[in-house]
Amino acid sequence: MESLWHTIEELVDAQRRVITAFGLLLFPRGCAGCGKPDEVVCPQCYRQLTQWQQQSIDTRICSSGVVCSCARYQGAVRHMILSWKDKGDWQCDRVFAQSMRSLITHADITTVFNQLPKTITILVVPVPSSHASRRKRGRWHTVVLARAVAQQCRTQGWNAQSVALLSMRLTAAKSLTLSRGTSRSTRLAGRLKLTRKAVRYRNTHGNTPLCVILVDDIITTGATIRACSTQLQEAGFPVFTALSIAMV
Ligand SMILES: [Zn+2]
Repeated sequence: MESLWHTIEELVDAQRRVITAFGLLLFPRGCAGCGKPDEVVCPQCYRQLTQWQQQSIDTRICSSGVVCSCARYQGAVRHMILSWKDKGDWQCDRVFAQSMRSLITHADITTVFNQLPKTITILVVPVPSSHASRRKRGRWHTVVLARAVAQQCRTQGWNAQSVALLSMRLTAAKSLTLSRGTSRSTRLAGRLKLTRKAVRYRNTHGNTPLCVILVDDIITTGATIRACSTQLQEAGFPVFTALSIAMV
């Protein structure tokens, strides 16, 4: 069943590539980073997505002690991300998927990943967006990144799958939204909830050795990662690391 899903994912990806190629022929466009004509992302801007970043994090949040990103959130990278997530430039999907896959193969980050035994199951979890953002964008954009990471982990020999373990409540508990001075991670924690899929997974795979890799578009203060990790670890899903396109 799992391999069927992987085949379907690959077919959808191939279909996207064909649509993108035709789209460029029919509707010429500019690079999402610098505006250079006839490119989704030009080679110079793509190179900026390979300036891998690593930052330490409390091992109680991510057991590896680091979070990693493809680039710094600045200049062309910032333009590309904003164009992709807020202006509906879905042709960038492939570019970001590719940069997330390369991130895992980068020498320094491979060292981090090599801590994981091949016998472990990796659950790649997209960081959830609010219902309002999903409605505005018409989709859950971090899923694209999570799928790419899972695909690369499988290529490197792990049993990995992208699975939405967390979602966002429509509204937070009132006390959390109203009280001043509540930290961002506490406010977020009040809105995050485990999905039905997560509960089902825990019930059926209770004894499987597993770990979670969180995937987000931008890591800023780390508050989101902290909130997601706390929720997952309380539910018995140990979090290994977090990956993102960019880091502030
Ligand atoms: Zn460019």
